[in-house]
Amino acid sequence: MDQLSYYTSFKSLKDAIQSQRNAVERVGFVPTMGALHQGHISLMEEAHKDHAILVVSIFVNPTQFNNPIDLEKYPRTLDEDVLLIKNRFPNALIISPDFEEVYGEDIHFPGIDLNGLDQIMEGEFRPGHFQGVCHVVYNLFQLIQPDAAYFGEKDFQQVAIIKYMVEQLHLPVHVKVCPTKRNEQGLALSSRNLRLSDQQKEDALVIYRSLHWMQSEIHHLSIQALKEKVVQDFASSSLTLEYLVFVDPHNLAVIETYSGQSVTCCIAAYCGEVRLIDNLSLC
Ligand code: AMP
Repeated sequence: MDQLSYYTSFKSLKDAIQSQRNAVERVGFVPTMGALHQGHISLMEEAHKDHAILVVSIFVNPTQFNNPIDLEKYPRTLDEDVLLIKNRFPNALIISPDFEEVYGEDIHFPGIDLNGLDQIMEGEFRPGHFQGVCHVVYNLFQLIQPDAAYFGEKDFQQVAIIKYMVEQLHLPVHVKVCPTKRNEQGLALSSRNLRLSDQQKEDALVIYRSLHWMQSEIHHLSIQALKEKVVQDFASSSLTLEYLVFVDPHNLAVIETYSGQSVTCCIAAYCGEVRLIDNLSLC
């Protein structure tokens, strides 16, 4: 394949995987929606360390968007994405499939009761989002049959849900979680950042500053006091806070009172029209 080529059908991708499988045993899969940045690349680096065959999908999955404008405005930069991957991982196999093939009739997603994991945070504000995520990830796993799949901690609730699905449906895939990549100031890298002006990127730093401040104060202030201060900081910024939730990272149970357990704080906020999410382990 030359630098700008990629697979559009799973049949041809499978043949390519098979020819490499003859030499090595494992397949590492990085699902993405494109508009790639160093966060995505860090997942590929992890996969590359673990496996000889790296498969990357680039597919903006309509079923996980509850807001049609968000779907329409989602950045699409396929040619640049393919070049970026190929320059860094010349042997990577890239698939940019059609909707019809991902959601073909021959794959039957059984559906999954997420046991409330999808009722809070992203699930509360983006109804149906996680059923869409589970559906596409399930179908991609069936089509690609990876040994391991790599996900970013940036989408904290997504990771918990995918791990839960893999366990409940006994999918033979090892889920690996990679740390959040940030810019020098601390803003979490995101494809959606392409829609932010320089000023908005500056304004959006209130998210990481708040998370970082809470991490330093968790042993000194109550959850309520942390919340009040951060809500105030957002109110005096140009961002609109959608949620600020403290959860137990093991089961996403919401934490109202800190009593020495692990706590992750998750935030969603609008910067202009762009919805940003981030999270940090506080202790
Ligand atoms: P997306 O293209 O936004 O669906 O993301 C594809 C994968 O990249 C998901 O597993 C994300 O969690 C992960 N990801 C996105 N942003 C980052 C980041 N800043 N650091 C690490 N992983 C990320």
